[in-house]
Amino acid sequence: MAELSAKQSPGVDTDVIIVGAGWGGMYMLHQCRKLGLSAKVLEKGPSVGGTWYWNRYPGLRCDVESTLYSFSFDHELEQEWTWTERYAAQPEILRYANHIADRFDLRRDIRFNTAVTAVRYDESKKLWRVSAEGMAESTARFVVMATGCLTVPKDVNIPGLEQFKGAVYHTARWPETPVNFSGKRVGVIGTGSSAIQAIPIIAEQAKHLYVFQRTPSYSLPAKNRKLESGFVADVKRNYDSLRQEARYHLVGIPAPTYAASVFDVDEATRTKIFDACYDNGLPFALMVTFGDLLASEEANQTAQDYLARRIRERVNDPELAEQLIPKGQFVGTRRLCIDTGYYETFNRDNVTLKNIAKNPIKSITETGVQLVDGQVDLDCLVFATGYDAMTGALLAIDIRGEGGAQLKDRWAAGPRTMMGLMMADFPNLFTITGPGSPSVLSNMVLSIEQHVEWIAECLKHMQASGKQTIEPLAEAQDQWVNHVNEVANSTLFPRGNTWYMGANVPGKPRVFMPYLGVGPYRTLCEEVTAAGYKGFALS
Ligand code: NAP
Repeated sequence: MAELSAKQSPGVDTDVIIVGAGWGGMYMLHQCRKLGLSAKVLEKGPSVGGTWYWNRYPGLRCDVESTLYSFSFDHELEQEWTWTERYAAQPEILRYANHIADRFDLRRDIRFNTAVTAVRYDESKKLWRVSAEGMAESTARFVVMATGCLTVPKDVNIPGLEQFKGAVYHTARWPETPVNFSGKRVGVIGTGSSAIQAIPIIAEQAKHLYVFQRTPSYSLPAKNRKLESGFVADVKRNYDSLRQEARYHLVGIPAPTYAASVFDVDEATRTKIFDACYDNGLPFALMVTFGDLLASEEANQTAQDYLARRIRERVNDPELAEQLIPKGQFVGTRRLCIDTGYYETFNRDNVTLKNIAKNPIKSITETGVQLVDGQVDLDCLVFATGYDAMTGALLAIDIRGEGGAQLKDRWAAGPRTMMGLMMADFPNLFTITGPGSPSVLSNMVLSIEQHVEWIAECLKHMQASGKQTIEPLAEAQDQWVNHVNEVANSTLFPRGNTWYMGANVPGKPRVFMPYLGVGPYRTLCEEVTAAGYKGFALS
């Protein structure tokens, strides 16, 4: 790519600098061009796709159906692209990301292999100074952080890791060339969404697979299948209404709520409703089956009992099944996973569950994992240990606003944003799917699209009205943070030890980071815009 030289506004290199070339960054670039703004994307990786570029572990699929996990902004794009599987695998999703880049000719404005290190506001000139590895400082009127919610793997922090002589992999940084585990003794640490998808495939190859489980997750069979042409044609015909329904749904994925309470129906009816989700591989649908499922302990217990029974059906050894069943964990407050043969994998002779909640890891040695009650010898170690989610990628960059305000100080007790879109004292700096917005509690593509379009509309408004800067009012931001907490506190979410709460990263403030409610959130954003950017100061 050429250096950042496009000049739209005097005194800056570029109108808009976008950080990240995942879905959000790519669509933002497209929207900026439509507005006649000069825009450049800085991307750490060598290609587009964001998390779908970095994650390429075996078995990876999206947990949102492919027909919905796709852009809706361009009718022709929607009609010309045909998904082949119900839950698309990573290679197909990455092909789609590359198709977006090619179709809209985006690459010429993306600088790859460019990790942004600092984003600092120059108050006197009212512009942002962006520093990146291997690039001269660049200036812009606006910065859009499209850095993703699941970008930075969390530190593994197990003593002795550097001594291990075998191969080490992380699901979030998987090599481009496929890994062959044939004949190997493999250890997988972690049992979240990533591990649950990778484990069945690794088990098929490995001589022996040891799964180190500290906290089990609930998982539903994905029931993935090839998509029939008739089904795809139907979806394409009905895309407008489907998308519209998704946009105003609680989780951004159309699914019915059958009753306000699980206790409004008898047990047989409830089981039938849960079966409809479980037997059709619909994790998001399960979460919204009843209005109180995510809010009442007693209501949630019915789903816990149901899923425990379904796990017992899939595991031959009853004692092993009990270890795989989450205990004292609310259904849905920790990400519900989808799997293809996960529980059945534990029926194989070459797979052993190591319950490290009972028998913790003491250290990693040259030859394996040392547990309190003995050593497990290994040739390969796979970490599926998750992310410093939602705030990790933003706080990895030195972001400073007005008066030298540092984002890391402002967020020391947890992220504070105005609707996950902007922060007070950081004028003209936007975040796509930032904390305080539905983001990870939604269909990400839908939420990305909504944010990009809100930002584009805002930039258009500023152009039209001759405004130079926009930033949230501190008071409005405080109100939003309180509202996010209020909504969260009316549910069971804050009681889970999950990455939604920052609980997976030692020392991270325990704050519920996303906003629950895709539809209500969209309506609130629309109201803000209609009221002339209520809660924001434009100057
Ligand atoms: P995760 O859900 O955070 O799971 C990490 C796992 O590693 C947990 O079981 C955790 O146990 C364990 N762990 C972490 N540190 C450990 C340590 N030091 N020692 C032992 N165990 C440790 O991470 P993930 O599986 O990568 O998934 C993250 C999110 O990415 C998902 O929730 C989902 O939103 C997204 N994702 C989606 C898909 C999909 O669309 N199908 C696939 C993959 C990922 P503890 O809970 O005890 O800490």
